[in-house]
Amino acid sequence: MDIIPTIKQACKKYGNDRGRLIDILWEVQNSLGCINEEAMGLIASEIKSHRVEIEGLVSFYSFFSDRQKGKIIIRLCDDIIDRHAGIERIADIFSEELGIGIGETSPDLNFSLEYTPCIGMSDQAPAALINNVVVTNLTPDSARETARQLKKTLDPSKLVTKCGDGNNAHKLVNAMVQNNIRQKGEVLLADGIPAEAGLDNALKKASLDVIQAITDSGLRGRGGAGFPTGEKLRLAQKTEATQRFIICNADEGEPGTFKDRVLLTERASLVFEGMTIAAYAIGSNSGILYLRAEYAYLRPFLESVLENRRKTGLLGKDVRGKKGFDFDIRIQLGAGAYICGEESALISSCEGLRGEPKNRPPFPVEKGYLSKPTAVNNVETFCCIARILDKGASWFAGIGTKASHGTKLLSVCGDCAKPGIYEVPYGIGIDELLKMVEADDPAIVQVGGASGEMVGRTSFGRKICFSDAATGGAVMVFSSHRNVLAIVDYFLEFFADESCGYCTPCRIGIVFLRERIQKVMHGFAEDADLGYLKDLCKTIMMTSRCGLGSSAPKSILNSIERFPLVYSSHLKESKDGFQASFNIQKALDESRRLAKRTSMIYDPVYEDEAD
Ligand code: SF4
Repeated sequence: MDIIPTIKQACKKYGNDRGRLIDILWEVQNSLGCINEEAMGLIASEIKSHRVEIEGLVSFYSFFSDRQKGKIIIRLCDDIIDRHAGIERIADIFSEELGIGIGETSPDLNFSLEYTPCIGMSDQAPAALINNVVVTNLTPDSARETARQLKKTLDPSKLVTKCGDGNNAHKLVNAMVQNNIRQKGEVLLADGIPAEAGLDNALKKASLDVIQAITDSGLRGRGGAGFPTGEKLRLAQKTEATQRFIICNADEGEPGTFKDRVLLTERASLVFEGMTIAAYAIGSNSGILYLRAEYAYLRPFLESVLENRRKTGLLGKDVRGKKGFDFDIRIQLGAGAYICGEESALISSCEGLRGEPKNRPPFPVEKGYLSKPTAVNNVETFCCIARILDKGASWFAGIGTKASHGTKLLSVCGDCAKPGIYEVPYGIGIDELLKMVEADDPAIVQVGGASGEMVGRTSFGRKICFSDAATGGAVMVFSSHRNVLAIVDYFLEFFADESCGYCTPCRIGIVFLRERIQKVMHGFAEDADLGYLKDLCKTIMMTSRCGLGSSAPKSILNSIERFPLVYSSHLKESKDGFQASFNIQKALDESRRLAKRTSMIYDPVYEDEAD
């Protein structure tokens, strides 16, 4: 097959621009089913680059492949929630029906079957992405039926028989996804939010007054880091430059997070309104929405919202009639890399590079996208900006706590009767939230996803806010029958896979941590191994270049501190014959048997002593 015309066309579509390499690679991957050596060489010569650069990108992003993939790629969500919901059984069924194992492609090149990290559907697990079609709440029966139908039709779009609620049923979304909005708050999900009220108010003000209003509101970034948004905009605005950029980070890849999915589905215009206000505030004429590849099914809908805004004067030249304020937004599709949620890595990806974090300083507000001042904010943050300019800084500051203003959108999943989206004022207790989500036997709440904090039962009085239990949105609930060490092991597996590999402590250290945790799990560890784990955790946290490395060991330190008996019950006798720990699990076996309780590795009765 002559692939030259395909490559030439893909490169030409993006002006042979190296900065648009991710888009070019998507075109090639979609057309040819892979980006093989020949394709890499041709792309490199078209855009005046080197083959090795293209190869570096293809190997970095998990949605690109140098090996031929099937016409239909089934990506089974392999996060911890999906594992608990039975994704392994679902994988077996797809495997049986399609005659291929995980990581394989069928000889007729019709199917590839693989695992993928969290696809943002943890409230409807087990779930899978079949090309761009999302399949949720899979059961062994529905998985078998899905596989058989795919074999018959070879068309994933035919799987969509009944759409989800709200805009999931929009003809350009057409997804079986449910929003699962369980609680609406007054900032983001309130009914009847007036369109463009925030933008209209902003355009009546001087740009510095817009920044002041955002500063006065006390808004802090909703993606996890919590940097004051007004300050970020002020820094970007005051940096001398001929051009500035606004970037919306819609790359929520933290396992258990799916709140931006719902905002993009139901509040797309509000997101773009917020971006437009921020652009006006800092003097930017260009914005990018970085959309994670897992949400590609939302792209046609989002493009239509953008197009509609252009047609109605909300984007383009003289936005909303404001002379001299020109602004437009493009969508940059990611390609499957958790690290791109980190703002400097995301900027690298927008520039057509591997999504590796950049050295800081300089910070993106000084030298960001294309070396220009760039304000990167989360989807939810942009929605808040629009609402603050509509309702006023003091209205926003009056919601929540003294130091954490506004509401927080939480995506709750795991062992509870009502997983989904909850918009709550900052300061809500974890215990209150657990009642709302109807968790009847919660033992661990993982606040903030894999990089967040493990909270045990005796600390459920803690508050969700920046100064206590902070989260970018993910709240995972685990019942007492779950295995703490298996959860920790999963988090380490995830981070080891997602490390960009730039720095050694993160690249190698997380693998060593996982080996030692598995030693504990299998009962081969001694007291000294816990000392080793703690030391290595601290070293990785202190020497890693970005937040992935500094947060990856947290679940180990949290669990050693808060669930010490889980560890001691797994330690074996040391070499000198001294029993390193009292084996509480063994000691409890007889009482369990009498009480007809299941034997568990993790015993909630003794958990969380150190909290
Ligand atoms: Fe990459 Fe990890 Fe270093 Fe971050 S800490 S730059 S993810 S290797």
